[in-house]
Amino acid sequence: MSNDQNNASRRRFLKVAAGAAGAAALAAVLPRTANAQALPHLAPTDPAAKALGYVEDTTKVDQAKYANHKATDNCANCKFFQGKPGDAYAGCQLFPGKAVNAKGWCSAHAAKA
Ligand code: SF4
Repeated sequence: MSNDQNNASRRRFLKVAAGAAGAAALAAVLPRTANAQALPHLAPTDPAAKALGYVEDTTKVDQAKYANHKATDNCANCKFFQGKPGDAYAGCQLFPGKAVNAKGWCSAHAAKA
C-alpha cells in the first residue's frame, strides 16, 4: 500500500469515527431532553427538597426563613434549571431524575448569567 493510499484510508477512517462519535454524543443528549417532561415531579416533601426549602410556588416561600429569597426568583430563571423558556417543569441539576416547577424555588437558586 502506498503512502497516498494509507493517508486516504486514514482520512476515511477519521471521518467515519468522527461521525460515529457525533451521533453517539447526540444520542446521549436527545433522550434526556425528550424525557425532561416525563420525569417525576420533585415533591416538596422529598428529604433533599426539604433540605433546600424547595417549594412549587415561589410566592409561598417562607420569607422569614429564607431572607435571601427575592420575589422574582424562580426555577425558570435559575442556572440549574434544565428546561427551555415556557416549560412548566424540567430537570434541575441539583435534583437528578426529578422535574422541578418552573415557578418553584429553593435556597440554592442562582440567577442565570
Ligand atoms: Fe429551582 Fe434552581 Fe433550586 Fe433547582 S436549584 S430547584 S432550578 S431554584
